[in-house]
Amino acid sequence: MSRIKCIGILTSGGDAPGMNAAIRAVTRAAIFNGIEVKGILRGYRGLIFDEIIPFKSNSVSNIIQQGGTILKTARCKEFTTVEGRKIAYEALQREGIEALIVIGGDGSLTGARIFAQEYNFPIVGLPGTIDNDLMGTDFTIGYDTALNTIMEAVDKIRDTASSHERLFIIEVMGRECGFLCLNGAIASGAEAAIIPERIEEEDQLGELISNGFRKSKNSSLVLVTEGDITGGAMGIADRIKRDFPEYDCRVSILGHVQRGGSPTASDRILASRMGAAAIEALKDDQRNVMIGVQDDKIVYVPFSKAIKKNKQISDELLNVLKILSI
Ligand code: ADP
Repeated sequence: MSRIKCIGILTSGGDAPGMNAAIRAVTRAAIFNGIEVKGILRGYRGLIFDEIIPFKSNSVSNIIQQGGTILKTARCKEFTTVEGRKIAYEALQREGIEALIVIGGDGSLTGARIFAQEYNFPIVGLPGTIDNDLMGTDFTIGYDTALNTIMEAVDKIRDTASSHERLFIIEVMGRECGFLCLNGAIASGAEAAIIPERIEEEDQLGELISNGFRKSKNSSLVLVTEGDITGGAMGIADRIKRDFPEYDCRVSILGHVQRGGSPTASDRILASRMGAAAIEALKDDQRNVMIGVQDDKIVYVPFSKAIKKNKQISDELLNVLKILSI
């Protein structure tokens, strides 16, 4: 394959802290290698509605510390259609863009995979999502920052929980994936994490209560992953009110604070490494892969594997939470 001279970069789907650090890294690494960069605004929308701007080295100055994404992000229905993707392809041709770097979550990389196959177009993905739900990478960009935000919020809720001797049910993000919930619970010393991955196998709440919940404590914190699978914090609270009315229970839904804020050092470093690796991947003639990190080493993960949706929760972590919450 002939050397790529111009790439486009976009952020798509849910924003995540560290996306800017990734944009900066991709842009600088491309320019370092003599590759021109174009910024595509609002995810795939920018391709369809022609919002494409030239990116220089100073276009990405002073952004490594900022949450969100300077390229903006969006959900784009048109890109899910054959007609929409044709318009996107024509825009890439017109702009002379020969490869795309897509930073986003599972949906964005699913779109990238379909487009890459349809048009035989080179795309490299970066896992940008707080949920840590992509396969083939130990961590996604934004996860560590969100985890720290959850920990700080739960620390604050703990003050009220212990002063009033109450049970708090705290809802965290993660969609169908319990990483934020489980590790958030361990990091904040919570009693339990109710996660989608274990909902079928065990009655996490029932078990907690029958094991003598609050026996040795005057307050309790339970984290739960948002969404229909777990029922979210409201679902859990309803059940407690119905089945265990002796508990004085309160709900706190952390919501969008989990997405924002300045990325942690870990996320900035991860995003910088992955951004630089995306350009190396293109130079290595890698196509249609997501950059991942496994055992602290950069790896290339085929899109088909990355979006498989069966990332395993570690039994060891579940056990640690159980042991430490007696
Ligand atoms: P995330 O990337 O955070 O998981 P979404 O699931 O909302 O976010 O996906 C972001 C965008 O990716 C969608 O708005 C759409 O433009 C594109 N996308 C998602 N799924 C598909 C699909 N099956 N086909 C084509 N494009 C898709």
